[in-house]
Amino acid sequence: MSYQGIIHRYHEFMDLPPAVQPITLYEGNTPLIPVPAIADNLGGGFELYVKYEGLNPTGSFKDRGMTTAMTMAKHNGKKTVICASTGNTAASAAAYASRAGLRAIVMIPEGKVAAGKLAGAVAYGAEIIQIPGSFDDALSFVVEISQKSEIELVNSLNPYRIEGQKTASFEICDELGSAPDWLCLPVGNAGNITAYWMGFTQYNRIKNTGLPHILGVQAEGAAPLVIGHTVEHPETVATAIRIGNPARGEQALMAAEESKGRIIAVSDEKILAAQKMLASSGIWVEPASAAGLAGLIDRIKNNSFDPKGKRIVLVCTGHGMKDPDIIISRGIKPVRLPVDFDKVAEYILGGRIQ
Ligand SMILES: *Cc1c(COP(=O)(O)O)cnc(C)c1O
Repeated sequence: MSYQGIIHRYHEFMDLPPAVQPITLYEGNTPLIPVPAIADNLGGGFELYVKYEGLNPTGSFKDRGMTTAMTMAKHNGKKTVICASTGNTAASAAAYASRAGLRAIVMIPEGKVAAGKLAGAVAYGAEIIQIPGSFDDALSFVVEISQKSEIELVNSLNPYRIEGQKTASFEICDELGSAPDWLCLPVGNAGNITAYWMGFTQYNRIKNTGLPHILGVQAEGAAPLVIGHTVEHPETVATAIRIGNPARGEQALMAAEESKGRIIAVSDEKILAAQKMLASSGIWVEPASAAGLAGLIDRIKNNSFDPKGKRIVLVCTGHGMKDPDIIISRGIKPVRLPVDFDKVAEYILGGRIQ
């Protein structure tokens, strides 16, 4: 049977009523791409893969959680959904709400949302509210609104978001035949690390697939789980993880501890270097998505981790096209030439025309 999205494929492992009508854009089923050149660059002798979640329908892994959250909102007769977002949740909620015929309200921190994400939310027809505050401010507002009304919250505090997002770990196990040794991923509001750990432990109970160690990576300017307290004014180029008070912070710390992994922080500079390294293997991701690789590189370089013989998966959470400005701002521009064959040939061939 042809592929019809994650609920169709993994319903038996999800805490969803048996007779739901999936609201789906055929999300999931993303490729697990080997990146041997990057592994060699880091000393070689291990297997390295990218789980390319940027290839979901709206360009990020948020679609996995949104198909389940929106399916249940519709199932429960809700008319309106709401979320706070650094951008990708907004775009995904907007898309799945239009698919479900529901009204979507998204609240975003002003001036801090990447162009491709805001455009997505607009294109899919969400009502967008900007506030001159942080993601954390926006989240506290929408949580309260959802508690005081019939409006459904579709942030990752919504348990159905986690039910959907955990399917990425099922896909990885199905593809590799077992869990990898390490899973490296960015951590913002900490829903995704929570979902992966839930998925791996569940699959291990049922299918004996083993458990990975989890390396969660935050940006230095937004690393509440590393420094141990809330960050009032989080700052990082990785806008998707620019969060100072993660909603599932406790669960993220538990996932790191139970998996005998850890949560670390890396600088923006290292995140952008990792983004470039992924692109040089043909995989362009938004800055936050490169944090997993940046963290892995850091651990290898300071000798706190030996990857030899290991199987490692990097979760690349969102597509590079979400945040074109970060690339453009590096100032590399196309070469301008006149409409003149000889000039073009001279530039390309260095004047050696046969
Ligand atoms: C949402 C998001 C994250 C962070 O995920 P959390 O569940 O908030 O930890 C990382 N990268 C991208 C691209 C995202 O959209």
